[in-house]
Amino acid sequence: MNDEKFFEEMEARVPHGKVRTRFAPSPTGYMHIGNLRTALYTYLIAKKDDGTFIFRLEDTDKKREVEGAEQVIYNTLKECGLNHDEGPDIGGPVGPYVQSERRELYGKYAKMLVERGHAYYCFCDKHEDEADDTEVSAAEKFVKIADPCRLLDPAEAKRRAEAGEPYVIRQKVPETGTTTFHDISYGEITVPNDSLDDQVLLKRDGLPTYNFANVVDDHLMGITHVVRGSEYLASSPKYNLLYEGFGWDIPEYVHCSPVMRDAQHKMSKRHGDPSYEDLRNEGFLTEAILNYVALLGWSPRGEIAEQEFFTLDELKKAFDISGISKSPAIFDIEKLKYFNAAYIREMTPEEFLKVAEPYIRKAVKKESISPAKIAPLLQQRCEMLSDIPEKLDFFDELPEYDIEFYTNKKSKTNAEVSLDMLNKALPRLEALESWDEESIKSCLTGLAEELGCKNAMVMWPVRIAAAGKLVTPGGVVEICDILGREESIRRIKKGIEKLENA
Ligand code: GLU
Repeated sequence: MNDEKFFEEMEARVPHGKVRTRFAPSPTGYMHIGNLRTALYTYLIAKKDDGTFIFRLEDTDKKREVEGAEQVIYNTLKECGLNHDEGPDIGGPVGPYVQSERRELYGKYAKMLVERGHAYYCFCDKHEDEADDTEVSAAEKFVKIADPCRLLDPAEAKRRAEAGEPYVIRQKVPETGTTTFHDISYGEITVPNDSLDDQVLLKRDGLPTYNFANVVDDHLMGITHVVRGSEYLASSPKYNLLYEGFGWDIPEYVHCSPVMRDAQHKMSKRHGDPSYEDLRNEGFLTEAILNYVALLGWSPRGEIAEQEFFTLDELKKAFDISGISKSPAIFDIEKLKYFNAAYIREMTPEEFLKVAEPYIRKAVKKESISPAKIAPLLQQRCEMLSDIPEKLDFFDELPEYDIEFYTNKKSKTNAEVSLDMLNKALPRLEALESWDEESIKSCLTGLAEELGCKNAMVMWPVRIAAAGKLVTPGGVVEICDILGREESIRRIKKGIEKLENA
C-alpha cells in the first residue's frame, strides 16, 4: 500500500463526535499518586460525558523500562475501577495501543512532516543523546540556527537518508514569531518561537520520541482531551506546531499540577513517598485513596461544594473540569487517614471482617480465637488496617506488664484493691456455667453490686490481668469471652500471683 493510501485509511478510522480521553503511562516505574490522579481525572472527563476512556502504553523509551511496571499499572487501574474501553489487552478500533507496535507508522508520519516542510533529517551524531526522552532540557544544548542539517537542501537530505546514512528527524520550529496554546486550567500561554528547540521526533533506531508519538497517537486515536502532568506544559507549543504542520485539529489540553510532598518537593518514590501499592500495603482502602486523590487538585462546586465523600460513581456525575486547580496539591497522609477511617466505619460488619481478617491473623494465630469476634471491636476505632495487629498483640500470649497498670485513679484501684478484686472475681468466674459475654458481664457487675462499688473497680483489674495492657480494643467482657474460660482464668491467677509477689 502506498503511503497516501495508508494515511487515508488511518484518517478514516479516526473516531469523531464523542469525548475520548487516554491514560498513557510509560512502564518506567510504579504508579505514583500523581499518575493515579491523572488516570482518575482522565477517566472522569470521559465518563462524565459518556465518552470513551482509552489505555495506551507508551513504551518507546526502552532504556527506562522497569520490569513489572506494566502489570502494576494494569492492576492499579483495575483495583480502582478505572476500566478502559479500548487498550492493549482488549483492543479497539484505533489500535494497536502499544506504541512499540506502531513503530512503522511514526516513521511514515515523520517523513510526511518532512515533506510538508515542518521537519528535517539531521545527520549530526553529536545530538544523539538528546533524542532520549529523558533529556527534556535538550533545548539548551541545541542551537537551531547554527545547525547545518536544518539548512540542507531537502532533496539532498532525502537522498542521503535513503542511501542509508543514519539520521534523526527533527521538528522545524519557525525561527521567528510566537506560538500560543490553550490549557483548560492554565489558560492561554504564548511563547516566542526562538525559545523552542528543534526537538528530535524520530530517533536513529526508528522509534519516535514521546514528543512526537503523543501527537500522532492522540490525533489518530481521536483524543479530544489530553490530560497529563504539568511537566508537559512547556512542550505544548511544540505539539501545537506539530498539529498545525500536519493540518490536524488541536485537542483540549488539561495539564494537572504536581502532587507535592511539601511546599517545595514533588512526591517521589526515590524519596520514600508512597505509591498506590504502598498505600494499599499500609492498609489504606482503595475507595479512600481514590476519594482523597480526587480532591487533590479538584474541588466540587455549587450545591456539592461542601461534599467530601464521593464514590467513583458519584465522582462520574460530580466531576467537572473547571474545578481542577492549577496550584500544586500537597499530599497529606493525615487527611488520607481521615478518609480511610470514615470508609472503614461505613462498611458493613461483613465487609469489614473480610478486609480486616488478614490483619487480625497477623497478630492472632491461635485457631481457637475467631477473627469474627474481634473485628467488631476494631471497626469503629481503626484508622488504618495496618494499625490492627499491634492492637491485638495480647491475645496469643499475655505480655509482660507493669504492676503499676493496676493503679487507676478513675476506677479507684491500686495494687491492693486489685488483688482483692481478682481474688473475689476468680471463684465466681470459675463457677460460671456458660462462658459468654452475657454471663461474664453479669458475674462482674453482680460482684460490684454486692460490694457496693462501681463496676470499674472490678472491671479494671480483671481487664489488666486478662490483657496485660492499658489500652485494648473492647472491654474486659469481650476480651474474656474471646480468650475463653481456661485462658482467662489462667491469666487472672497469674495476675493474683504477680500482685501477691509485688
Ligand atoms: N507517557 C507519558 C508519561 O508517562 C504520558 C504523558 C501523556 O499523558 O501524554 O508521563
